[in-house]
Amino acid sequence: MNNPEKIIPVEDQPLSLYAKREPVFNRRIDGKFRRLKWAIMIVCLAVYWITPWIRWDRGPYAPNQAVLIDLAHRRFYMFGIEIWPQEFYFVAGLLIMAGIGLFLVTSAVGRAWCGYACPQTVWTDLFQHIDRLIDGDRNARFRLYKAPWGPAKIARRLLKWSIYLAISFATGGAWIFYFADAPTLQHEFWTGTAAPVAYATTFVLTMTTFVLGGFMREQVCIYMCPWPRIQTAMLDEKSLLVTYKDWRGEPRGSLKKAEKNPGQFGDCIDCNQCVAVCPTGIDIREGPQIGCITCALCIDACDRVMKETGRPRGLIDYATLEDSEREKAGEPPTRHLKLIWRPRTILYFCVWGGIGLALLFMLGTRVHTDLTVAKDRNPPYILMSDGSVRNAYTLRLRNMEGRPRVMEVSIEGLPGAVMWSEDTGRDNAARTLRRTVAADETQSMRAYVVVPAGTPSQEFRFRLQSLDEQRETDTTEAKIDTPGGE
Ligand code: SF4
Ligand code: SF4
Repeated sequence: MNNPEKIIPVEDQPLSLYAKREPVFNRRIDGKFRRLKWAIMIVCLAVYWITPWIRWDRGPYAPNQAVLIDLAHRRFYMFGIEIWPQEFYFVAGLLIMAGIGLFLVTSAVGRAWCGYACPQTVWTDLFQHIDRLIDGDRNARFRLYKAPWGPAKIARRLLKWSIYLAISFATGGAWIFYFADAPTLQHEFWTGTAAPVAYATTFVLTMTTFVLGGFMREQVCIYMCPWPRIQTAMLDEKSLLVTYKDWRGEPRGSLKKAEKNPGQFGDCIDCNQCVAVCPTGIDIREGPQIGCITCALCIDACDRVMKETGRPRGLIDYATLEDSEREKAGEPPTRHLKLIWRPRTILYFCVWGGIGLALLFMLGTRVHTDLTVAKDRNPPYILMSDGSVRNAYTLRLRNMEGRPRVMEVSIEGLPGAVMWSEDTGRDNAARTLRRTVAADETQSMRAYVVVPAGTPSQEFRFRLQSLDEQRETDTTEAKIDTPGGE
């Protein structure tokens, strides 16, 4: 039990491989880091809930949802960008950027992701505010926790869990709108006509949010999430951590003791406010630990105590190990901006920015036309009665624009060759074929290429060109087989 009045030191707790969860009753606090957390939480939740409802006009042939993962048609839409399955490298590039971005943030500002923007942190923070709203602040919640079950406690618990469930449902429910047209799916959802997978996904995400955010909370960070372990390996003596400056705070002692024995005690008045506000219930004065998500609320709490007792702020503060040593020796700390711009951070930033620029370049220069060719292997060729040789191919013409386009396929190289398709017939054989390809579609066509007698086997190219103002082209290598061989 996390008794707010009495914290049992770690060394006095019995050793065991299993530790029962101790509920955390963190106290309300205001300060600059708390306000920063509020701002980031509001932005994160707003982005998550509002994004599927943003519309984006792509014309009559494409969905008008700004961000949409269209699994049925295997497309990913993000505002003006449309990613096709064969362009998955864009998604892979974004995922790599996200990974390196986390390394970059960790290198620059330590575990800031965990403390401010991780979904587990954001939803846990939200649920802890619900706790305060329904049950009151730290001491009131502790008293209610200890109180025997009765009508009043049951009513409060039911009310609180209902609000948890409503938030969890809104969270799980919002996720499915990223995978289908949001207004349509919402109507189908409430009329019971949505696909079963929509209900199943909502149910699973509702329950995971309810359990992870409402009940497991800091246990997820401490025991389940691999990221704190990875981050711990990435931190070095130049990483910014929330640090208790023990050389300044120790020996700790109450105000009364300090007043009675001037010069005998450090700045820490042992008020436990830093522990009381901690969302993971740890004591930062015991040193860096995996349970510290570096949310900096203890800095706000301690700064307030320092102000009230007339001492300089920053007994708990963001600091690096190197700076801690320097400050202990009486030297001034390094400026935070200088700490951020160090070789490791710059290297991560260059790699991250390089991948981003490469993706932007590829996006800017990519064509919305694509041609793939598959040659019939069996038979490799057909000898015609006039001695000419015929090879058959399956061509796939891809139009990645949100409007129908007329496209022309032509043969490049291969002197004397002509082609036809099933609908044009051999009488209309020519070196080019035209097709209208529907918006955002791939059209398959069979093409028969005929070469004069005596033509050796050789490589040639199919060329696809859009016959619009863009004149986009794509060229694909192919081979013709003849009895003459190579
Ligand atoms: S809030 Fe500051 S003064 Fe109070 S116990 Fe924590 S470190 Fe010491
Ligand atoms: S010790 Fe301080 S920074 Fe770490 S989780 Fe607790 S309140 Fe946040």
